[in-house]
Amino acid sequence: MIGTALIAGGSALAAAGSWYLAPMAARKLQEVQLRNLCIATKSLVLTYDDGPGEKLTPQLLDLLKLRNARATFFLTGFRATDNPELVDEIAGQGHEIACHTQQHLNAWRTSPWRSVHDIDEGYQSLARWVPQDGWFRPPFGKLTLLTWARIKSRKAPLGWWTIRSGDDAEVLPETDTAAIKVKRDGGGVVLLHDFDRSDQRAEFMLESTSKLLDAADEHGWTVCTLSELTGENCKRAA
Ligand SMILES: [Zn+2]
Repeated sequence: MIGTALIAGGSALAAAGSWYLAPMAARKLQEVQLRNLCIATKSLVLTYDDGPGEKLTPQLLDLLKLRNARATFFLTGFRATDNPELVDEIAGQGHEIACHTQQHLNAWRTSPWRSVHDIDEGYQSLARWVPQDGWFRPPFGKLTLLTWARIKSRKAPLGWWTIRSGDDAEVLPETDTAAIKVKRDGGGVVLLHDFDRSDQRAEFMLESTSKLLDAADEHGWTVCTLSELTGENCKRAA
């Protein structure tokens, strides 16, 4: 009896392992490749998640325009549906738009089919701006075997990051934290957020972005979108 229970327990553990850990192992590998690509091409990719934010995104767009920089925006379908003109504005300014699901559900805490539906619904809502095989970033960076397979079947690339800005940390770090990390690595893909939160977080995000762009100027990094990076066409907007 004990032996059978142990075998059953072991199989359950192995199943859970592949369900959660196999996609995470693939993620680790892709992150290393991404970091190496940024270093090889001396590139900085700014990525903004969870938006658009009615108040914050226009401020960010002004800043990026002023600094002549393009970024990749991982939008949530529900916020894009609420603000289609703002999404048009992001796209119109030459930025890349990508999918971050419809409702921002954590695949590790949601039923498998609901998570898959959240992905498909996100692509549906963003269809005006994002191709059906456009970049995807899972909420909280969490994938299961099923959501990973869904993305694979779409042939959509997974848009990981190599550096966190800390704009979602409980206690905000210094605003030059991300810039220092990119200097340390010699390039990187930075995770920031442009949905509306407190004024303090909004200011932190805008200042972090400025400091990252200052560092890019100082060190001669090229600033580009994820597609430009992986297409090895990373260059500052003309
Ligand atoms: Zn997110």
